[in-house]
Amino acid sequence: MKLQLSFVAFAAAALFSLPTLSTGYSLIGGNLGIGTSGNGYQRDFRIFNNAADSTANDNGTTSASYPGATGAKQAVWKAGEVWNSNKDGNANFDFDFQGSATAAGGLNGNTFSWGTSGCSGGTLAYTQTPISDGWNILMCESWTWNDGPTVSGGQIDIQGVAAHELGHALGLGHSAVSCSGSCVNVTTMCPTICGTGVEQRSLQADDKSGLAAIYGAKPANKPTITGLSGSFLTGGTLVITGTNFPSTVNVKFSAATTTNTGTIPGVVYNVAATTTSVSVTIPATAVDGNVLVWAPSISRLSNPFPIDIGSSGGGGGPCGTIANYGSGSVGSLSGTVANIATNGTSPSASNTNFALTLTGGNANQTCLLLSSPGQATAPQLWGTLYVRFPYTSTNVGATTATGTKSQVIPVSAAMVGTTQYFQYLVFDPSAGYQHTGGLRVTYCP
Ligand SMILES: [Zn+2]
Repeated sequence: MKLQLSFVAFAAAALFSLPTLSTGYSLIGGNLGIGTSGNGYQRDFRIFNNAADSTANDNGTTSASYPGATGAKQAVWKAGEVWNSNKDGNANFDFDFQGSATAAGGLNGNTFSWGTSGCSGGTLAYTQTPISDGWNILMCESWTWNDGPTVSGGQIDIQGVAAHELGHALGLGHSAVSCSGSCVNVTTMCPTICGTGVEQRSLQADDKSGLAAIYGAKPANKPTITGLSGSFLTGGTLVITGTNFPSTVNVKFSAATTTNTGTIPGVVYNVAATTTSVSVTIPATAVDGNVLVWAPSISRLSNPFPIDIGSSGGGGGPCGTIANYGSGSVGSLSGTVANIATNGTSPSASNTNFALTLTGGNANQTCLLLSSPGQATAPQLWGTLYVRFPYTSTNVGATTATGTKSQVIPVSAAMVGTTQYFQYLVFDPSAGYQHTGGLRVTYCP
């Protein structure tokens, strides 16, 4: 079956005198599963970026929210995102952007591409169904496509049309709510585009009702990713922070693959988790895109969280990176600013002498070393906390008579590729604590 979005010339004028239709969303039957058997995992989608128009790929603005994606790739990624649990969709549903494909894929490849097959009359794009075993979307090359963010009259907005077609891919048919008259608040699932299609990028109430009718409301215990820290390098240890993680999860990275059943590349299976944290080794197949916590045992998929593989975006950086941040305070006894540094040796598993040093501290006072997998800048009564809660606080004994301290940090094999954040606190009789700034370290083999 082919579900298409059409372009009707002067649609607004022609329909303006008709009474407003109130018929709501429709369903095509089926849904996109997240199981590990049967039709497998079907929330993934990808783009074979063969759009011919120069205006389809002239948006070169990069964004940390869409790492590695510009042009049509970014537009299609944004189109999927609008249906997600932490965006307009707000239901028990999330798409999983897998990046670029090297071919258009088959009927069940969950892939966007451009072409002319099956395009006639006013057809802009269409989705091939049934969906439960996968789908395919073709954007008709006979139109002039634009990747945004702004779209000139006479051109067609990739993002708006892609959002509509992905609505079909997840199980929605057409709606007749707010499809005539002004383009303002036009329903994404209207059978025809309004204007350039830009207004159909965002969901309306009827689109959201249809989504929730298929997948249910967002459950209170849905796993949610709120942040990433540690290493963003393949082979490094990524720390995923959030809520409602089951004790064992799969962690799914974008991997630019076409596989959505069986053992899927880019997935690390059966990772131990706490309710609020998952540490996972980034697989070699991971690419720029998103990472999700996938728990098929409870039929839950987290929101996708953008990740720039190979970058220091999360504070990681290449192994061996040492970086100071923030600033220390002046001790009431020392009269100098407390400073944190390394002892100049490599933070590597092959070095047993790597140490963190304190200078400028109050002499002969209790000294604490705070460590955490995350960075913070949080005001406290005594100054500024530069490591993220929860952190580990270790009493490393009293400072020397010259206000210094050195603490050896053993680097284990498990720490290789991870990033840690440190701060020294020194007891101060007037301020509570004198503190250093923060120090970031990424460990090497
Ligand atoms: Zn349609």
